[in-house]
Amino acid sequence: MFQYERVAEGVYSFQSENYAQVTAGLVVGAKWSVLIDTLALPEETKALQAFIEEHTEVPIRYIVNTHYHADHSWGNCFFPNAVIIAHSLCRQLMITRGQPALERAKQSGHTFVEVELKFPNLTFPEGEMSLKMGRKCIRIIPLPGHSPDGIGVLVEDERVLFAGDAVMPIPYIVDGNIEQMAETLKRISRMRLENIVPGHGDIVLRGEIKTKLREDLDYLACIQKEVKKAHRRKFPGDYLDEVDIAQCGKSRVLLGGLAVELHRRNLRALYRQMYGEAPARSPKEEEVPW
Ligand SMILES: [Zn+2]
Repeated sequence: MFQYERVAEGVYSFQSENYAQVTAGLVVGAKWSVLIDTLALPEETKALQAFIEEHTEVPIRYIVNTHYHADHSWGNCFFPNAVIIAHSLCRQLMITRGQPALERAKQSGHTFVEVELKFPNLTFPEGEMSLKMGRKCIRIIPLPGHSPDGIGVLVEDERVLFAGDAVMPIPYIVDGNIEQMAETLKRISRMRLENIVPGHGDIVLRGEIKTKLREDLDYLACIQKEVKKAHRRKFPGDYLDEVDIAQCGKSRVLLGGLAVELHRRNLRALYRQMYGEAPARSPKEEEVPW
C-alpha cells in the first residue's frame, strides 16, 4: 500500500503505491511525534496509522497539513486525538473548497464515505512556527506557490525538509502562482539541506538538490515563455497543445506518466492567470459548417 524509508534518526517518510506517489512523513520526538500530511485514500491512511502505532512508542500529538488538498489532508479524521497544525489559509480553504469537494466525492462513489474533514485547529497567518520535541526541533515555514497556503516542515539539526507540493517531480501551479513558486524554490535552494521529501515522488538527496531545483526553475521559465508565445497566436490553445514536456526539460515518465497531464494543465492555467481567459483553440472539424 505504501513504502517507507528512514530518512534520518527518528525521521521517516511514506510513499503511496496507490495514488500519484503522494507522501507523508513522521518525526518521532521524546514523548510524542508529528505526522506530516496523511495519504490520499482512507485505507492507506488507516494502514499508515496502524503501522506507526505498531512501530513507535510515542503517540502522534500533531499533524501538520502542508496544504488543504485532499490527497494531503483528508486523512486527518483517522487521528482523533491529534491537533492539526496548518497555515490559516489552509483552514479557510478546507472549509470553502475542501468540504464541498468531499460532498461531491461522497455522491459520486464509495471511496470517501467514512471521511469527515477535520479542520486545522492550530493555525498561523504569517511567519513561522517552531516545535521543540525533546532533542529534536522542527520549524514550520511558509512555502507557497503550488497553493497559497503551502507550508513545509524543516527538521532543524538533521536538515531534512518535508516540502509538501512545493517540491514535486514537476512543479504544479494550477491552484497557485508561478512567481511565488519560483521564490519558494529559490528559498529552498538556500537552505543547506541533506534531504528533501517532496509531496509526491522520491526523496531528493543532498547531491541532487541543486540540480533538481535548477531544473524546476528552468521549467517554470520555459512554460512562462511558451505561454507568452501562445498569446501572440490566433489560437493560443492549439499552440499550447503542442508544447511538449520534454522541451521544457522534464521527462514524460515522471510520476508514473502523470507528469504529461500536469504539464498540459500548467500551461492552460498559467495562460488563464496571465491573460484572464482560457486559451482559445481553433474550431473543431465537426463544427465547421461545410
Ligand atoms: Zn498533492
